[in-house]
Amino acid sequence: MNRDPFEVLGLSRDASDDDIKKAFKTLAKKYHPDLNPGNKAAEEKFKELNEAYRTLLNKGQRVDDTGGFGGFEDRDIFGFGGFADIFKDFVFRSKGEDLRFDLDLTVDELFSKDSKDVIIKNKLKCDTCNGTGAKEKHTCPTCKGTGKIRQASKNLGSTFIIMSDCNRCSGLGYITDKKCDSCKGYGYIYKQESIKVPIRKNISEGTYAVVPGKGESSIGGSNGDLYIVFHIKGDDKFAVEGLDLVSRLHVDARDVIKGKTLDLEVPEGKEKISLKKGETKLIIKGKGLFDKRGKRGDIILNIVPEIPTDIKEEELKEIDRILGKHKEPFVSAVK
Ligand SMILES: [Zn+2]
Ligand SMILES: [Zn+2]
Repeated sequence: MNRDPFEVLGLSRDASDDDIKKAFKTLAKKYHPDLNPGNKAAEEKFKELNEAYRTLLNKGQRVDDTGGFGGFEDRDIFGFGGFADIFKDFVFRSKGEDLRFDLDLTVDELFSKDSKDVIIKNKLKCDTCNGTGAKEKHTCPTCKGTGKIRQASKNLGSTFIIMSDCNRCSGLGYITDKKCDSCKGYGYIYKQESIKVPIRKNISEGTYAVVPGKGESSIGGSNGDLYIVFHIKGDDKFAVEGLDLVSRLHVDARDVIKGKTLDLEVPEGKEKISLKKGETKLIIKGKGLFDKRGKRGDIILNIVPEIPTDIKEEELKEIDRILGKHKEPFVSAVK
């Protein structure tokens, strides 16, 4: 990008995130291609705004920037929900609504699965009536099929022409005589669809992937997109604490006393690690979850010595001899 992104958005360098969002929102509306059909300059300006916005807020995380997400398209310009938020109030938007699907992945799924099937329930245009909801219809006589009515209005000494949706046909331009049998007149139907979502171990909490065209359909427009938002959940082996994976490692008391090299099964595979004498915690650096920039957390294993509970009286004497003088319990801070 050539120009200073602050300058592009008309902001000073100390602008806050909120200022940036506000400026972007206002300018993006002004220069949106749907509002400026055929206007090359506006189109360029719109592109430039997006780039500036992205540069400043570094919004949205790419799931697919190293490949392997075939059919998935990165949409990091607006950040999740941004597009729908900005343009939802505008009638010119002919694209169907974007859908959001929150997908929970366990630690085990994240590291061992290539994909996960999700079932989405999608609102689709009825093919029978092509989304009109009508089996039989006639052109609205009030608006002559345009769906709009024009009214003159005097204000501050000037006359304005106000365009509004036709009341008689609700802006559709036609009046339904008989409803479509397939969709009962709604113009759309709900359909379940199974989608295979690719999984990579560097997916981080809150990252999303976009499946283009799998959102809701719109009458006379293109389909919205499906946003899959990933959430990483702990499972029966590892709890998620930020980027760290935390667990308990149960070890034979003798191994804790003597120390031992352990072959451990961690989410990513096998790990050889040496347990030193009396160690209470093992940390495997850089083998935890990924953050949005690819930095990784650790695996933290709290050692639980497995001690027999059925030691006999005479055997306890032997233990007393080995352990020496009895120690009183004491506390110490974590970390
Ligand atoms: Zn129909
Ligand atoms: Zn009408």
